Amino acid sequence: MTLPDQVGTPTTASTAAAESGAAQEVLRRVFGYDRFRGDQAEIVAHVIDGGDALVLMPTGGGKSLCYQVPALVRPGVGVVVSPLIALMQDQVDALSALGVRAGFLNSTQYPDERRTVEAQFVAGELDLLYLAPERLRLESTTQLLARGEIALFAIDEAHCVSQWGHDFRPDYLELSVLHQRWPKVPRVALTATATERTRDEIVHRLDLGSSRQFVASFDRPNIQYRIEPKNRPERQLLDFIRTEHAGDAGIVYCLSRNSVEKTAAFLNENGISAVPYHAGLDNRVRAANQSRFLREEGLVVVATIAFGMGIDKPDVRFVAHLDLPKSVEGYYQETGRAGRDGQPSTAWMVYGLADVVQQRKLIDNSEGDAAHRRQLQLHLDAMLALCETVGCRRTRLLAYFGQPDQTPCGNCDTCLTPPESWDGTVAAQKLLSTVLRLKRERGQSFGAGHIIEILLGKQNPKVLQYDHHELKVFGIGTDLRDTEWRGVVRQLLAAGLLAVHGDYGVLTLTEASNEVLFDGRKVPLRREPERAAKPARAAKSPKVAVELAPADASLFDRLRKWRAATAKEQGVPAYVVFHDATLREIAARKPASLAELGAISGIGENKLAKYGAGVLEVLAEE
Ligand code: ADP
Ligand code: ZN
Repeated sequence: MTLPDQVGTPTTASTAAAESGAAQEVLRRVFGYDRFRGDQAEIVAHVIDGGDALVLMPTGGGKSLCYQVPALVRPGVGVVVSPLIALMQDQVDALSALGVRAGFLNSTQYPDERRTVEAQFVAGELDLLYLAPERLRLESTTQLLARGEIALFAIDEAHCVSQWGHDFRPDYLELSVLHQRWPKVPRVALTATATERTRDEIVHRLDLGSSRQFVASFDRPNIQYRIEPKNRPERQLLDFIRTEHAGDAGIVYCLSRNSVEKTAAFLNENGISAVPYHAGLDNRVRAANQSRFLREEGLVVVATIAFGMGIDKPDVRFVAHLDLPKSVEGYYQETGRAGRDGQPSTAWMVYGLADVVQQRKLIDNSEGDAAHRRQLQLHLDAMLALCETVGCRRTRLLAYFGQPDQTPCGNCDTCLTPPESWDGTVAAQKLLSTVLRLKRERGQSFGAGHIIEILLGKQNPKVLQYDHHELKVFGIGTDLRDTEWRGVVRQLLAAGLLAVHGDYGVLTLTEASNEVLFDGRKVPLRREPERAAKPARAAKSPKVAVELAPADASLFDRLRKWRAATAKEQGVPAYVVFHDATLREIAARKPASLAELGAISGIGENKLAKYGAGVLEVLAEE
């Protein structure tokens, strides 16, 4: 889908045809793919023709080709600005495996390495040059760029320019100089996270007002979304991995460094190989853990959100959240790291009342003015609404990203096991009136735990200390269990019918609370399950690659072993050699010659020359 408000210059028929011929040829010969996906063809043609573009595609949508192909077709070097310094080496390795001449410049290099790359750039011996954004602040960098021929600028992770977003990088603000200094060089900005607001900010800050915008569907049909009530998070996680993802690579996100360490240790104690990743670890340990995650099969990384941007490991089978993300954008980006290869994957999260209280506390204590805090609250509200929805999660996510009116997906927990709802109006009234009484009659505010104890009629020391057993509301809520009351509080918070504040998580009423207390507003709630039911496999199985017959599966395993050995020998991640999808297709089709092998998706000229003989040997072994 392309937005109607495109402005770029139309290509004339004849040049467009010639260019699309060249682009097609590069796609086939270098990347080994038969056809462009979605908007790729149009984007590539537009950029080759010198047009600017803003590309919004979900993770795994195929953004890289949108600048890599034009960089190879246009004269000069494609300059790619990317904040993902730790991954530049892998990106360059992956391109080299395709026979593309690529280099990078960032602060991790020795000066002589840098000089070599600079000389290659000036001599026109590169197809692609990856550049860390902070280098653009150096006059020496702009001088260097002025000495070579530039095919295009690609601005990866373009949402980093947005102060409203969650990944703001001040260096990205410098990127507007590119257009000022090289007005004729086409620019393509790419991102996987952009609400309308972020998109507007990217356009504004990067001066892309007259660029064409390409907005792909944000759906990731192969990802199953699930959100469950949190009770014993580590146990729940272990069950989830053991029953559904044993032996799979996955990412587990936690809010704090401490819980990252604890969770990683817990998984290891229980026989699941896991490494921690957070900003407090020594740089070298962090880099080593990331590298292990990329290279080894079936490793779990337990991480804070410091981990993952640009990780393009294609076979991450699950992303688990043990704490509530701060925003839907963050959640979608993090979960988007699962299943880039299009194979079935799971986005799984546990969440509880304590998460809401904690997030609210973080907001109250955050630096920044009231407007900033309001924004954070809006982000949190949207996240809570996603958690508490009784409708399809995917529909909600897509609506949030500006793609409303979708039909229920059949591949999220609420579609697979629709939650029961019940009339929570009376329960809500009981709870809200307890909060109201404490405030009105005694000027007191308390957290959810204490309010629930009052409702349940518990004569505990704190209740007695405050004489709360004498309140009229004492014990009026024994019809619900403690966990059910917590569910009520959570849902009232998510609906804005109750608010929580400060270090102690005190509950207060909102304006909307009055509608429930005095104006007969109904409060439908979702029932709190005793235990989260594990949804059956998606009824409507998403488009996935070839299912393998048992005999082919053993061939697939042998191909994977060969790939692991080859990758190790060359010191690159396995997926740089071939993706799972490619190996799967080889196992199913059993090509008998190099020519037949070359017809398989993901095998271009260079990989055929490099690995073709090895693969045919594995095939002949039977
Ligand atoms: P993004 O950067 O948008 O997350 P990538 O550029 O990494 O996505 O592409 C995701 C995956 O899809 C990669 O494995 C890539 O090789 C593959 N891919 C991209 N375009 C095509 C295509 N036209 N045909 C087949 N596979 C493709
Ligand atoms: Zn759904």
